Amino acid sequence: MSLKIYMNGKIIDEKQAKISIFDHGLLYGDGVFEGIRSYGELVFRLKEHIDRLYESAHTIMLKIPVSKQQMTAAVIATLRANKLKDAYIRLVVTRGEGDLGLDPRKCPKATVFIIADKIALYPDRFYKQGLKIVTVPTQRSSAETLNPQVKSLNYLNNILAKLEAINAGAEEAIMLNAQGHVAECSGDNIFIIKKGVLLTPHISMGALKGITRQAVLDIASKSGMSVKEDVLTRHDLFNADECFLSGTAAEIVPVVKIDGRVIGNGLPGATTLKLLLNFRKLTKIDGVRY
Ligand code: PMP
Repeated sequence: MSLKIYMNGKIIDEKQAKISIFDHGLLYGDGVFEGIRSYGELVFRLKEHIDRLYESAHTIMLKIPVSKQQMTAAVIATLRANKLKDAYIRLVVTRGEGDLGLDPRKCPKATVFIIADKIALYPDRFYKQGLKIVTVPTQRSSAETLNPQVKSLNYLNNILAKLEAINAGAEEAIMLNAQGHVAECSGDNIFIIKKGVLLTPHISMGALKGITRQAVLDIASKSGMSVKEDVLTRHDLFNADECFLSGTAAEIVPVVKIDGRVIGNGLPGATTLKLLLNFRKLTKIDGVRY
């Protein structure tokens, strides 16, 4: 069955959903995106995703041709058109069609499209056995270059990091910043637990302000755990009691080995699993119904 795609104000069949070869999203990665998830018939933290999309667009001076309210309605219309309950939603806004030059002024109209598809879940063994991850040479860009808060279509930095992890036989890459401090993974935020304190790199370290990251911080604080956004080194990671990654697609996934060092007892941590359970509970109640 073919998917129904929202494209520039209309719901159309995926076969009709086409992008111009002159679209600057394609030619230059000039655009922004979001990855959102729905659980049952609830879109998790939709407002936060929409807000982040518009902030990313504002920073790159990309005018989104629809209001936030219309965008929210478009996400819901796409989910309904595909009769999806549990879904992964990709919202993309590109600079639109221009000429072969860089100049964004030659692109009069942004392209907006939304794909809602079944969620491709990570293998169950990731959650049961935990991930083995490595730090990689490719650094996370600094706020002074391409600010990691802009969720742009330029993901080559992260793709290089992912390739380096794959080449090393690992499942995920830890990216450091130019100072050698831990930033995040190629598509997820990173957390550790040490002596009962939950720690994650401060966003100034080069981490995206992940929406799952915030949900994890909220859940942990509510349960009375101390939480801290901090400067973390590889040494801190190696000597953590527990480690896990967070992201929209991954939710919370335990990490058991980093650069060959066993984390804690080498098994997914008890607090990590409890956070995952509580996160999944939250997704059943915290969302926009459609
Ligand atoms: N960091 C990067 C680089 C990402 O691309 C993502 C998710 N797309 C995340 C972290 C996690 O963010 P979120 O929880 O909002 O999905």
